[in-house]
Amino acid sequence: MAREDYEVVIGLEVHAELSTKTKIFCSCPTKFGGMPNTQTCPICMAMPGTLPVLNEKVV
Ligand SMILES: [Zn+2]
Repeated sequence: MAREDYEVVIGLEVHAELSTKTKIFCSCPTKFGGMPNTQTCPICMAMPGTLPVLNEKVV
């Protein structure tokens, strides 16, 4: 394929610490220092069939 056959698509992934008490897409706490995998839920883990709920405080 020639270069003209491709379309350039650039995405950004931003990592930032939130100042909210819960995560951006679920109600799991953002408390620092907990044991690994103790502040997660099926939404955090992107399990099939789950849907995120946007934390309005982040917006
Ligand atoms: Zn969660």
